[in-house]
Amino acid sequence: MQFPNQLFIDGRSCGASDNKTLPIINPATEEVLVEVAAASERDVEAAVSGAQRTFEGSWRDYTPGRRAEVMFQIARVLREHAEELSQLESVAIGKPISDARDEVAMGARTFEYYAGAISKFYGQTIPVARGGFDFTLRQPMGVVAAIVPWNFPFPIATWKVAPALAAGNCVVLKPARQSPLSALRLGELAARAGLPDGCLQVLAGSGEEMGDALVKHPLIRKISFTGSTAVGSHIMQVASRDIKRVSLELGGKSPNIIFADADLEKAASTSPMSVFANTGQDCCARSRVFVERSVYEKFVELFVQATRKVVIGDPAKAETQIGPLVSAQQREVVETFLPTAKTPHLKVLCGGDRPARKGCYLNPAVVVGCETSDRIWREEVFGPVACVRAFDREEEMLAEVNASPYGLSGSLWTKDLNRALRVSRRVESGVLSVNCHNSVHLEAPFGGFKQSGLGRDLGMAAMEGYTELKNIYIAE
Ligand code: NAD
Repeated sequence: MQFPNQLFIDGRSCGASDNKTLPIINPATEEVLVEVAAASERDVEAAVSGAQRTFEGSWRDYTPGRRAEVMFQIARVLREHAEELSQLESVAIGKPISDARDEVAMGARTFEYYAGAISKFYGQTIPVARGGFDFTLRQPMGVVAAIVPWNFPFPIATWKVAPALAAGNCVVLKPARQSPLSALRLGELAARAGLPDGCLQVLAGSGEEMGDALVKHPLIRKISFTGSTAVGSHIMQVASRDIKRVSLELGGKSPNIIFADADLEKAASTSPMSVFANTGQDCCARSRVFVERSVYEKFVELFVQATRKVVIGDPAKAETQIGPLVSAQQREVVETFLPTAKTPHLKVLCGGDRPARKGCYLNPAVVVGCETSDRIWREEVFGPVACVRAFDREEEMLAEVNASPYGLSGSLWTKDLNRALRVSRRVESGVLSVNCHNSVHLEAPFGGFKQSGLGRDLGMAAMEGYTELKNIYIAE
């Protein structure tokens, strides 16, 4: 397999200005796949100023129809290279190939959705008191920095790049240090599809080393960030100096609420993958399971049975459901959450141990006995660990759900429509799914309440977030 290993600036691949590189390690084999150029501050300068030149020189003045045509072409070229992109995604982070294929397909659809959105995105005419003619325009911002994490590298990059380009901006995309391969290839393929040079620059490298240079750059008008709450908070502070626009998609600790009248078999059989998919490295992982006491024992039994059936293994095999964690270091972090002799009230019903195979694997763990003060119950683990707890009263359960500083996602299982509506309104989260675990639809807004973020990805809400709203008044 050929790995992209250079930065992508002004329509061509190039090395880092100081010749620095970072290794990309396959977590399934722990072998180095390739050394990739790591951008420096000088490369940030080149990428941002090149993007600004393209913004002013051409892209912002493309007619909507011409912009849409380019974006449809990008979707087509991504589809032609879908298998290659899926393989790159799978080997860099140990993602099961079947998941990678679905995510790359979603990335192509995201370009199509926003290509189509360009002609359906308009302002208003407003009947102001003075008469005359008042109307609004949605104008592009300029150069946007898109900073993305390693857990869903390709789709999250497209969730930011596609609406930003569709709205007429240019983009500097910074993938995570661990997972730059699919982003670098996206830059090359978009250029091949006809995107003008400089519209999409891709800078691989470490966020700690060049992230601040990107966020602080005076020509960056908006930072669209997905990642941890700690880094999001830092970016918000840095951005505040110049009142830069920010959108932040951050961490989560989402609930999965099972009422006694739920379809218990369905809830229990689908719930393991609502937390263990992507090896639990999912901001939406339903890692706190709340079960009404009268069905608690039965649910736990079914949940553990279903967890034991999850197929863990080689990410390259189509039947694999769970691959390794992204790195040996990430596995060690996850293990610090697991019960020890110092937490005797916590009980591991299955998993939590390392399978006897090479690679950064961890068997999915089901833990019971959690108290509100336990770290495993309160903090984002970002690994294959589910905590299950019984509740007696709806009010008490809701208080515990909403006590989390996070508010990203969640599921709710009941056959009572009134209760579904009542509880859905009360749960403090940006998205919620009832009687299923699907909460990400590219046509609908996605994002968090509280410390899970600010602003929205996906849907038309994302496109609005890449524009400034201008009001123009013409006197009679
Ligand atoms: P991270 O915050 O460590 O890194 C995210 C990105 O920020 C990476 O590209 C990194 O290089 C960059 N970065 C790091 N320091 C920076 C700095 N000072 N300036 C600029 N950029 C910097 O997160 P991660 O470990 O890659 O991803 C895991 C986290 O992402 C989890 O908390 C998860 O919940 C969250 N996440 C949220 C969503 C969502 O939509 N809400 C989706 C996926 C992941």
